[in-house]
Amino acid sequence: MNFEPLNITNKAGNTTPAKTEKTRCLIIGSGPAGYTAAIYAGRANLFPILYEGMEPGGQLTTTTGIENFPGYPEGTTGTQMMEDLKNQATRFGADIRFGIATAADLSSSPYKIIIDDKVIIEAETLIIATGAKAKYLGLPDEQKYAGSGVSACATCDGFFYRKKVVAVVGGGDTACEEALYLAGLCKKVYLIVRKPFLRASIIMQERVKNADNIEVLFEHETLGLFGEGVVEGATLLKNRGANEETVKIAIDGFFLAIGHQPNTELFKGFITLDENGYIVTQPGIPLTNIPGVFAAGDVADPHYRQAITAAGSGCQAAIEAERYLSHHG
Ligand code: NDP
Repeated sequence: MNFEPLNITNKAGNTTPAKTEKTRCLIIGSGPAGYTAAIYAGRANLFPILYEGMEPGGQLTTTTGIENFPGYPEGTTGTQMMEDLKNQATRFGADIRFGIATAADLSSSPYKIIIDDKVIIEAETLIIATGAKAKYLGLPDEQKYAGSGVSACATCDGFFYRKKVVAVVGGGDTACEEALYLAGLCKKVYLIVRKPFLRASIIMQERVKNADNIEVLFEHETLGLFGEGVVEGATLLKNRGANEETVKIAIDGFFLAIGHQPNTELFKGFITLDENGYIVTQPGIPLTNIPGVFAAGDVADPHYRQAITAAGSGCQAAIEAERYLSHHG
């Protein structure tokens, strides 16, 4: 992609050249990875610019509460934690801005990112912390009960359903992993699988089969959820086709585990991605295939997807950016 010259045409048809700004360190994304990178880059005097993206604060702002991030003995909310991280980054000189990266040219340094189709940022180093989004079924009830019984993260929210009955949707490794995690906390776990078999690895299938309190509902699809203010049950379609029937199950929690989509669309063609679209980094370090471009958090992590691991990799990315800049003058 060639950005030169980039012109902006307003509604009246008047065209002006886009504004270009230079920075030593650009961070895209405002979850725990992005903000932690901003704290470290700020403290290293890199004066980072951070663009918050589509969902300021990232996925954590949609979870029920956070009890597993070290340092919060009484727990906190995702929104509060993100606000704290943002304030901490600002304190060390990070320039945090609302804006969405709409195009990228990583073919040569300085790397160029267009924000809101308006401004070109030329960055000597780039930290990609754009995260991933959980896939949802697309039912209106998922929105209706968001934070009131619907979740896409068992590790984040499972604790709130101790000794209760929950359902997990999906038949892959994530769904099995989430169901097994929840089985350790909950009275009963339904695993709702649309096919007559699980797609998960054999070992995960075995574990699910051996768990006394997991009931797999093969060939079931979710039609909707019900409950007074909170989820109290789900309506399912059993055996779609000639013999189909509608069944209801009583549940307190409904967990989506039908996969995640990393937010990497913008970087396709420049950065090496794996078969699921995650950025490939060197094992244990956030280096991508492009010198000076780093990836932190869920965008490069299909395995852990935790706030603490994202924050850790954000820290690593900022340290690597600082080292890169000092080696490259
Ligand atoms: P997958 O794509 O492997 O599985 C998604 C599951 O969700 C499938 O069973 C799929 O059904 C189901 N699904 C998708 N859309 C819908 C829908 N609209 N309604 C109902 N069901 C739906 O995603 P995962 O997140 O499970 O795994 C992603 C990758 O990460 C895989 O390679 C996996 O092996 C890996 N992984 C590895 C782990 C480990 O090694 N510990 C842990 C977690 C993930 P269907 O089969 O019918 O398409």
